[in-house]
Amino acid sequence: KKPVIAIDGYSSTGKSSISKVIAQKLGIIHLDTGALYRGVTWFALQNCLNEDGTINLNELFSSLDQIELEFKNIENELVLFLNHIDISKQIRTNEVSDNVSLVAKQKEVRDFLLQSQRSLAEKGGIIMDGRDIGTVVLPNADYKFFLTASIDERTKRRYQELLGLGIQAEEQQVKENLLERDRIDSEREIAPLRQSEDATVIDNSLLTKEQTIDTILAYIQK
Ligand code: C5P
Repeated sequence: KKPVIAIDGYSSTGKSSISKVIAQKLGIIHLDTGALYRGVTWFALQNCLNEDGTINLNELFSSLDQIELEFKNIENELVLFLNHIDISKQIRTNEVSDNVSLVAKQKEVRDFLLQSQRSLAEKGGIIMDGRDIGTVVLPNADYKFFLTASIDERTKRRYQELLGLGIQAEEQQVKENLLERDRIDSEREIAPLRQSEDATVIDNSLLTKEQTIDTILAYIQK
């Protein structure tokens, strides 16, 4: 049976891009769970706003049954669709980044997304990255990793990623968003960002993406 792999860690430690390559190398599926929380946040920003522009959480909770999130495999990329519309670019905007942790700390939202994440892993052969995969979503995963890196390194990476997507941002603003999300994600009551006791911790501040991938593959192929 192909392995089930959980990758958790702080924001912009490279979880998703690293998981994507590992999935290709091992011939398994990759699920970026952060994209799901970003998708719900994008929906809320479009449909569930208060007059002052903040998200109306109660309206979001009663609208969750109208949300259909689906990943489609397009030229070997998993592209996120919300109600049949490609939102893969929209979910990376600053507006979504600034609101996603508030949305993700809500029990209603986490419950809504939990079952579909678990059912995707039932047949094995998946690498899932997020904040609570090793602790809550897949506590019985075959391999668990927890990625961390210095805030300056993470800021640089995120800044470059946004540039690549054509999204303008200030470095200071990027850094503050990373710190604020990590704080909210770590302090929330439900499924907080935590290192699972049985996870292998990798600080990749001084590692290239390829070196981090090789480190993880060395554990899996041992
Ligand atoms: O991984 P990414 O940075 O895109 O995740 C965006 C946000 O989604 C995180 O800051 C966190 O609030 C939330 N998230 C979560 N649980 C996960 C994955 C992401 O709460 N498993």
